[in-house]
Amino acid sequence: MEMQQEIKKRVYKFGNKTTDGNSTMKNLLGGKGANLAEMSAIGIPVPPGFTITTEVCTEYNLLGKDKIISLLKNEVEAAVAQVEDIMGAKFGSNENPCLLSVRSGARVSMPGMMDTVLNLGMNDNSVQGLIAKTGNERFAWDSYRRFVQMFGGVVLGVGAKSKEDHDPFEEIITKAKKDKGVELDTDLDVADLKQMVADFKAACTAQTGEPFPEDPWDQLWGSITAVFDSWMNPRAIYYRNMHGYPEEWGTAVNVQAMVYGNMGDNSGTGVAFTRDAATGENIFNGEYLINAQGEDVVAGVRTPQQITLEGSKRWAVLAGVSEEERKNNYPSLEELMPAIYKELNETQDKLEKHYNDMQDLEFTIQEGKLWMLQTRNGKRTAAAMVRIAMELLEDGRIDEKKALLMQEPAKLDELLHPVFDGEAIKAAKVLAKGLPASPGAATGQIVFFADEADKYPVSILVRVETSPEDLEGMNIAKGILTARGGMTSHAAVVARGMGKCCVSGAGAIQINYKTRVMTIEGNKYQEGDWISLNGSTGEVYEGKIGTKDAELSGYFGSVMTLADKYRKLGVRTNAETERECKVAVEFGAEGIGLCRTEHMFFEGERLVRMREMILAEDEAGRREALDKLLPIQRKDFKDVFAAMAGLPVTVRLLDPPLHEFVPHEEENQKEMAAEMGISVEAIKQKVEDLHEFNPMLGHRGCRLGITYPEITEMQARAIIEAALELKAEGIKTFPEIMIPLIGTVKEFKLQEEIVRAVAAEVFAEKGDKIDYLVGTMIEIPRACLTADKIAEVAEFFSFGTNDLTQMGFGYSRDDAGKFLPIYIEKGILKADPFQVLDQEGIGQLVEMGTTKGRSTNAKLKVGICGEHGGEPSSVEFCHRVGMDYVSCSPFRVPIARLAAAQAAIKEQA
Ligand code: ADP
Ligand code: MG
Ligand code: MG
Repeated sequence: MEMQQEIKKRVYKFGNKTTDGNSTMKNLLGGKGANLAEMSAIGIPVPPGFTITTEVCTEYNLLGKDKIISLLKNEVEAAVAQVEDIMGAKFGSNENPCLLSVRSGARVSMPGMMDTVLNLGMNDNSVQGLIAKTGNERFAWDSYRRFVQMFGGVVLGVGAKSKEDHDPFEEIITKAKKDKGVELDTDLDVADLKQMVADFKAACTAQTGEPFPEDPWDQLWGSITAVFDSWMNPRAIYYRNMHGYPEEWGTAVNVQAMVYGNMGDNSGTGVAFTRDAATGENIFNGEYLINAQGEDVVAGVRTPQQITLEGSKRWAVLAGVSEEERKNNYPSLEELMPAIYKELNETQDKLEKHYNDMQDLEFTIQEGKLWMLQTRNGKRTAAAMVRIAMELLEDGRIDEKKALLMQEPAKLDELLHPVFDGEAIKAAKVLAKGLPASPGAATGQIVFFADEADKYPVSILVRVETSPEDLEGMNIAKGILTARGGMTSHAAVVARGMGKCCVSGAGAIQINYKTRVMTIEGNKYQEGDWISLNGSTGEVYEGKIGTKDAELSGYFGSVMTLADKYRKLGVRTNAETERECKVAVEFGAEGIGLCRTEHMFFEGERLVRMREMILAEDEAGRREALDKLLPIQRKDFKDVFAAMAGLPVTVRLLDPPLHEFVPHEEENQKEMAAEMGISVEAIKQKVEDLHEFNPMLGHRGCRLGITYPEITEMQARAIIEAALELKAEGIKTFPEIMIPLIGTVKEFKLQEEIVRAVAAEVFAEKGDKIDYLVGTMIEIPRACLTADKIAEVAEFFSFGTNDLTQMGFGYSRDDAGKFLPIYIEKGILKADPFQVLDQEGIGQLVEMGTTKGRSTNAKLKVGICGEHGGEPSSVEFCHRVGMDYVSCSPFRVPIARLAAAQAAIKEQA
């Protein structure tokens, strides 16, 4: 063990001398580290540095700080020496200091991780060295104060003590500016900055009780271990859980020589995208700031400027800035630094062609020289995702398979959701205009704090700006509105990633967190007031505005057509109303995989008849009630079959425990008593009799049809009659009658006999017939174990993975909410097994059921109809198991189509 620890490579260098890694090593080096290595290797100017691997993060959690430092010491010292060598400067030197940045970087980009620490290595001595080296005193002190602020906040955890409190560093800066009567950080002079460093350090000591660390190596090890610690902070864990990323991945740490965007007016920093991340338009775009460092651009402190002239002009229109003012105060980089712009434009083009995907870039200009600090596949909205993929395909840059694989099926959901109703929006009053940061429409009640986003059923989170702590609240809110920040602000980037409507940088709004009031041009809006946002235009509206459904043509349509070309799995829907059927067919459903007949009995006259049937004294009474239900049920089936004309429809016979239908309230009991001409007491008695200790494992599913065969008879008759009536009208139907909750083959046989007998009877009566199937839902573990026997008689299987998961795990679906979140938090389960199929365990039952079933019935049709049928990883599993189709809710049909295509492509590869 000791030996292995010694020889393992933990540090990968990059820079123009040695580059150990490349872009394929994301799992080991994290996304940022792998791409820094790749850029360095293809000759793009990247400040030299090194990456400590993600594996060390796992070791760190096991072995602790001291042990890890001793294991890393030699390699890190050697790597720092290479950086010093390339930069011609020395880490910790008082004459010619080499400063470093420490950056986190997991294999996928992850908000919630530690923020970057810049200018590491600064202290009272090296600040003098930096002055001597650059002759720029202001720059040196500005760098120093930034370092103390970042290290203090990020590594030492110094910050606001409560949410109403202010950050001590911000307070010091605000006070310094106020005392001096200036507005911008850049207006502070050397003396101000010196004082600020002293005040910042004092603020740190006041909170930590320790002196601020002066030794550069202490600073470095402190920052490295803080990155590892941040992997386990609650924000990072929340984000991981939200996306199902496992804890084992760990984060890498990137340490890199500093380049300075804050050296004066020929320096700056910025963020850019090779295509528009909101719309997908193929246009280079981004924002920058002169004489700025690090995240100034995204922090919303100053108004960032646009990189391209075209972008700058578009921005001015949106921001209501005249061309005159734009040119003078907010010129584009293209206008201001044409040579740097040209190089940046060539670099973005080179990077996009290298990666063949839209890139999100970070760069810094130091005294007229361009440095690239990061590239990654850019986060994008669903609209941008489909457009970019299809345009890269059109341009012949990628093939069809890549175009499908590069899309995230679950994200398509964003495209399927409502936009504002055209009429309602015309009448709406525009309160303010911000930037169209993440498209879509949202309406909701104002909340000002992320941790209160669940205060109303639908809320809009209104903030000056957002930060990684707000992640959870941003996810809950319907939309996000910020007063500050550009298109690359935290709010904008995170919202796009979540597919959440966001308007950022609406400068006209003022927010008072203490009084919980937003003021726009003198008008006040309280917490709880309704507002609406249009994330595609940046408009903020007063009040609640109606929405309407999305358009499903264009790029989205092409993606679906392409997906259909590759997928092998059929995609059906779970639906029982005409409206659901219509939506599902529009989304491309090829039939119904699950029509839950009980949903047809829950209202109006149906419910009364249903209750009459359940409460009846004997079979005769039940038959009387069922006779009244028959025409109602037949009509329901006709509607569904007609909506799905020409497509198969799997109808499940009555499934839930009967007590779900009976009246529990006195008033309803009286009503039923009057209806049936019996006493209220008799009704009460019957309701009590129906009580079960474990209804989910009780008198339900085929057990109902076995004890009351007349129910099965009525349902079978309604189905067959509906199909025959439609046939007479020239409409084709393919009913598949599904017996639920089969655990033994004998149960199936008894029910099947009834269905076939009724069908024969109806055929004889009508003198006509149709094709139909009789099959079963496989949802009891015993059915999987005996699937070969069941398949000898059943014509199809449909895996009901909700119940199968419930019974396989022994978790009651209705009670799991109490412990499942804790199971996920503690890492006992990676995901909620009711959402993501547990392939390891329940998956074995599904696979066994399929294999055994087909062993005795080669023609057996197999599908899935649980929630999992629309979840991408589960769809992939269904493909691998060799199912014929998946079935999911209408809005998930497009997701399933794409996921099924990806599964087929991955299998070929
Ligand atoms: P994030 O993961 O949040 O994007 P980064 O590690 O990319 O954090 O750092 C944020 C910003 O800090 C970068 O965009 C860049 O502007 C600045 N930065 C990081 N490292 C350096 C460096 N070596 N020199 C100059 N600026 C840097
Ligand atoms: Mg950051
Ligand atoms: Mg970055």
